[in-house]
Amino acid sequence: MLSEAEAAEAAVRANLDAGLPQWRELQAASRAARQCAYAPFSDFQVGAAVLAADGRIISGCNVENASYGLTICAERVAVCSGIALGIREFVAICVSLSGIPVPCGACRQFLVEFNPKMLILLDNVEAGSEDGGQGCLPELVSLDTLLPRPFRIER
Ligand SMILES: [Zn+2]
Repeated sequence: MLSEAEAAEAAVRANLDAGLPQWRELQAASRAARQCAYAPFSDFQVGAAVLAADGRIISGCNVENASYGLTICAERVAVCSGIALGIREFVAICVSLSGIPVPCGACRQFLVEFNPKMLILLDNVEAGSEDGGQGCLPELVSLDTLLPRPFRIER
C-alpha cells in the first residue's frame, strides 16, 4: 500500500514517462553539464540538455564573462552546440540548477525559434536532497505556457 506521498510521486513519474519518456537521460545529461559550468563571478552553476528529434541529447552549461553582459546561459549553449552538429529540430530541453529552474526571458525567445511547443524539464537539483540527494522529480512544462506570445517572423 502506497502512502499518499508515494502515490503522488508515482503519479508525477507516470506523467513524466508519458510526456517525455527520455526525461531521465535528459536530466542526467543536464546535471552532468552543470558540473562544467564556468561561473566564477556568480558561482551559479546551470546545466542544460536538449533532446533532438532524432534522439540525440546535447548538453550545455552557463559560460560567464568578466563583462557580465557577454555571459551565455546553459540553454543557449546546448542549442548552439546542437546547431553546430547540424541539428535543427529540438523536442525538449532540461534545465538543472539549484533554485527555481525556469529559463530566462531571453532563452525562452531563443528556444521559440526552434520549437514554440518545446517541452521543458525544470530540474531543481537541491529539492528533495534530504531524501538521499536525488532531488525531487522535475516538472514538465511546454514552452508556449512560459512564453505565450513570442516574437516571430513568418518565413
Ligand atoms: Zn537564459
